[in-house]
Amino acid sequence: MKEYESLERRFREAATVRSIAAMLGWDQETFLPGKGAVWRGEQLAWLAGRQHRLVTGEEIGAALEVCAGYFPEEGREATNVRGWARDFRMASRIPVEYVERMARLTSEATHVWAGARKAADFSMYRPILEQLVGMAREKADLLGWEGCRYDALLDEYEPGSTAAAVEELFARLAPEIAAMVGPAVAAAAGDGGWEPSGHFPVAGQQAFNREVAEAIGFDFEAGRIDASNHPFCTGLGPGDTRLTTRYDESNFLSSLYGVLHEAGHGMYEQGLDGGQWGLPVGEACSLGIHESQSRLWENHIGGSDQFWEHWLPRAAHYFPQLSGCSPHAVAAAARRVSPGFIRVDADEVTYDLHVILRFEIERGLVGGSLAVADVPEAWNARFRELTGLAVPDDARGCLQDVHWSFGGFGYFPTYTMGNLHASQLMAAARGAVPGLDGEIAAGNYSALRGWLREQVHMHGRRWSPEELMRRATGEEPGVAAHLAHLRTRYLR
Ligand code: ZN
Repeated sequence: MKEYESLERRFREAATVRSIAAMLGWDQETFLPGKGAVWRGEQLAWLAGRQHRLVTGEEIGAALEVCAGYFPEEGREATNVRGWARDFRMASRIPVEYVERMARLTSEATHVWAGARKAADFSMYRPILEQLVGMAREKADLLGWEGCRYDALLDEYEPGSTAAAVEELFARLAPEIAAMVGPAVAAAAGDGGWEPSGHFPVAGQQAFNREVAEAIGFDFEAGRIDASNHPFCTGLGPGDTRLTTRYDESNFLSSLYGVLHEAGHGMYEQGLDGGQWGLPVGEACSLGIHESQSRLWENHIGGSDQFWEHWLPRAAHYFPQLSGCSPHAVAAAARRVSPGFIRVDADEVTYDLHVILRFEIERGLVGGSLAVADVPEAWNARFRELTGLAVPDDARGCLQDVHWSFGGFGYFPTYTMGNLHASQLMAAARGAVPGLDGEIAAGNYSALRGWLREQVHMHGRRWSPEELMRRATGEEPGVAAHLAHLRTRYLR
């Protein structure tokens, strides 16, 4: 059908532009010299504008009308048409002028934020955060919303989700987690408190991480691992998925768990339908589903005793000081529950408390009930309520995350959704694949990876995140599986 073909050409071209921008973004985080940052911002702003022009325009609306309802409901074409319709609807509400202005602002903001965080000085960041909040509100109003302004922003990352639904989920989660922290810390104290010690050369970490990533199924002929300040994963195209991690020569666990997490994201990218890359059926379902893949490998697999029973001899091959350790001691160190200030360093139990705090703060900012000037005070007070800890400075408080600087208001809740989905998927995989735990204990991950590919990866955006979870697990997405996982693991 000629309308479908013209849409496909158009959106494939947009995906090509987006992947070029992603490539430049990857370079910015890995190799770009500092003085190149301003010019890189110009390049990215131009590409963002170019891409936006491609996915808007009246002829797209007309072609979509012809295609609507034409193809069988669950086929590739229908999925693409539905996805394009959503993307077109959202993109055409945002003027290209906004897109370019936002690209410039966020490139400056990330720079200002890095300086403010280094100096632990919120006053340096405040003026640009005011602009970022203003632009987030403007965007929500352009996109349109019914319940509350935050819904419009959340929906971009997690289609169909609302602030009210997230609030309800978090209200069920927060008291259960808060009650678990004390006993989990006490249980961890019984584990002997082993910590990695001695020197862990980067070359050894790289070799060990690669062995592990290869074993769980990350394809190095279609991807690579480099170093950056903050670990991330970016799918640059079919056959090209990039991961990063960071190295600490006094603790090999930091780079390893970075790789396990990002390789989980990476295997999702590698498991998408490559022939449909950049089209809705070949794209990830949502950020929450994406995060479920990383947390599953990082926490459910990497945080288990079985993982270390298999991998400790290989780790000791690279780091001889590990020879006398027990697998349980290493696993216990990797998953030790210890409330702290920094989200990215948080353990599996307290992590979601960090997310709940951010959701409340940014909801207040976007909704107008919280002024930017009051963020540090609000942050510190709520953090104390949630964890009992007093934030010592803003670098360890409201300045720690980059998200607002790239305009990512509405992003944080997807981290917790990822944790919840990971637990639910893992429980379903155990039920569906006989002998799965035995396979995993033997270091054979192909059955689990195959199940994830079949249930999650290959469907792209065919269904909503909720529907995908329902089909994969046979249950409504919720908190039960995650709380059960935490209880089993931490309240022995
Ligand atoms: Zn992640």
